[in-house]
Amino acid sequence: MSEPGSSGAGRAHAAAEEAARAAPELSQAELERIVSPLAAADERMIEGALRPKRLSDFIGQGRVREQLSLVLTGALRRGKPPDHVLLSGPPGLGKTTIAMIIAAELGTPLRITSGPAIERSGDLAAVLSTLGEGEVVFIDEIHRVARPAEEMLYLAMEDFRVDVMVGKGPGATAIPLEIAPFTLVGATTRAGLLPAPLRDRFGFTAHLDFYEAAELEIIVRRSAALLGVALRDDGADEIAGRSRGTPRIANRLLRRVRDFAEVRCDGVVTREVARSALELYEVDEQGLDRLDRAVLGALVSRFGGGPVGLSTLAVAVGEEAETVEVVAEPFLVRAGLMARTPRGRVATPAAWEHLGLPPPAAPGPPGLAAPGSLFE
Ligand code: ADP
Repeated sequence: MSEPGSSGAGRAHAAAEEAARAAPELSQAELERIVSPLAAADERMIEGALRPKRLSDFIGQGRVREQLSLVLTGALRRGKPPDHVLLSGPPGLGKTTIAMIIAAELGTPLRITSGPAIERSGDLAAVLSTLGEGEVVFIDEIHRVARPAEEMLYLAMEDFRVDVMVGKGPGATAIPLEIAPFTLVGATTRAGLLPAPLRDRFGFTAHLDFYEAAELEIIVRRSAALLGVALRDDGADEIAGRSRGTPRIANRLLRRVRDFAEVRCDGVVTREVARSALELYEVDEQGLDRLDRAVLGALVSRFGGGPVGLSTLAVAVGEEAETVEVVAEPFLVRAGLMARTPRGRVATPAAWEHLGLPPPAAPGPPGLAAPGSLFE
């Protein structure tokens, strides 16, 4: 595939800055978490250095990589921009990275913006009307593009044309404007929220899944090499296991463990060093942090495993209901430690095991359903 131009490094830096600007606003609770899958603007800048630049450096997501390679190679052979690409999946799994890789493989510049930044159709027209032939446009959180801009996007994706409105009110006229053929890469964490007409205009759709621990281990080793960290294989294994299937978290844990290794030890990250560091940062073997364990602990010991309503559970841990629901719950559910039922939140038997507590005796305490009936 083609090599990026000589200004590749400068371009990558500009792209990293744009990615930083497009980063979502994070709540305080999310910002303070070492295991947050989201990144604030300053972290996005640091991440730039660790991003794989080419498809061959990208670890994991084998099927997506193979399919994408065919799409890009085919387009390069034909000398035409590839189909528009939709990437869906949870945050921190590599959607922005893949968008950058697509531009690099095609040897074209990349424009980065995000759904929340496109409030009016004029915001989108400003990006699209200044595109060069074959450029790649990345719209992060594309499900949040404002409605009027969405209509403009349909036309642009299909006909490489935008209608620019001139004037206001009844006298306003739409002036069609040709734009250069381009490739849109859209990313979304909420594919279900995308309107069907938008989804249908993507010729290639890929869903990114959480990574296996073995893949995260390779990612951590690669990042350590780039950062100049002496990382033993068992240290990499320990970090990977606590990273919640998410490369962004793996890289963040690596940076914290490196600090610990350099300040408290001889700089070498072994399993022991990684364990001590992550104990200090309160990230346990499964990647749960203090908030996750507080929620799980309250559910198990104060409510006998539930079912309990979200707001009651939140009061018990001294947090807002939204924080518990958005910040802690998704991973607890994914890890199989908690379940949401119509009657409230319940702990699964694995929750007791994880907390090192004996499983509840059946039947449960008076007033609470027997544990066996909680998991129906
Ligand atoms: P998203 O856009 O899905 O939130 P990013 O592409 O910004 O995720 O990735 C977050 C971080 O994780 C980046 O620093 C990137 O280098 C790293 N990363 C993601 N996927 C991979 C991968 N497959 N291999 C190596 N690093 C990865």
